[in-house]
Amino acid sequence: MSEFTATPASAPARVSVIGLGLMGSALAAALLNAGHQVTVWNRSPAKVGILAAQGAVPADSPAAAIAASDLTILCLTTYDNVSELLEPLADSLAGRVLANLTNGTPDQARTLAAWVEAQGAAYLDGGIMAVPQMIATPAGYVLYSGDEQAYETHRATLAALGGTRWTGTDPGFAALYDMSLLTGMYGMITGISQAFAVMRSANVPAAEFGPLLENWVIAMTQGLTADYARALDSGDHLTDVASLGMQAPAFDNLLDLYRAQGVSTDLFEPLAALFKRSVEEGHAADGLSRLAELVRK
Ligand code: NDP
Repeated sequence: MSEFTATPASAPARVSVIGLGLMGSALAAALLNAGHQVTVWNRSPAKVGILAAQGAVPADSPAAAIAASDLTILCLTTYDNVSELLEPLADSLAGRVLANLTNGTPDQARTLAAWVEAQGAAYLDGGIMAVPQMIATPAGYVLYSGDEQAYETHRATLAALGGTRWTGTDPGFAALYDMSLLTGMYGMITGISQAFAVMRSANVPAAEFGPLLENWVIAMTQGLTADYARALDSGDHLTDVASLGMQAPAFDNLLDLYRAQGVSTDLFEPLAALFKRSVEEGHAADGLSRLAELVRK
């Protein structure tokens, strides 16, 4: 992942973390481990104790947490939770930097950014590409967008959480990248779930089939995104590997198999329809990358 910023050494900074759920607690612990002065607040006080035992300073209120540090990281369940928490504090936000790592849509990020900036504060939006156990490991990283100066100022501190990747000054872009990456992940999970369901319906132990599936998925995705990128950026989708015209009829067989095995066809019918449409619209000689264009329409 050479495009991600390597973790630079960072002088101790004052950072507050609001929201100590599974993810917020991992973020706060990573900041403590990196030697930063961490102030924490959580709606339910019970979750504060573990971080306090590790050296975090509990704040009495969200306002006190924000006042304690130049940079405050928010990690709550939804953007509505974040807005409800911040709105009563509007008068005390000027000059602060808020980095909201809560999952949401690009429009939610843009709306919140505009509101935060109207209070005289700087807004960073973040998309966490990690589960809590991956925080502060080379496998995890966070996408950022919004106020670039705030990002540059606090990048070394934020690097305690893992890799950092800047996506642009449009505050919605971190969420856009995040949700698109999640889309790829959930699509893969769709296929894996369907494959296991079919094999389970034939009483094949999952432990026997799992390694075959893993190897197959890895082999089939090797180089696939690079092929897509080349085709999508050039507009040339013709393939000498596997055409849509060859693959479309295979979906009739897949759907027949699912019905015969008593497995739902719900997840795969839309994909079968997309392959069929690709042929009907004259793209039989193209490769899979054409599907990304068809979905856009
Ligand atoms: P949790 O359910 O473990 O924690 C949710 C946190 O939000 C808790 O601190 C909770 O406080 C707080 N909260 C919820 N509603 C409110 C409210 N109205 N006012 C104040 N605080 C509130 O979730 P996670 O920590 O796992 O996730 C947090 C965010 O991180 C989510 O947006 C999630 O999508 C994102 N994320 C999580 C990942 C993961 O693997 N866990 C991966 C990537 C992103 P309380 O303790 O009082 O309930």
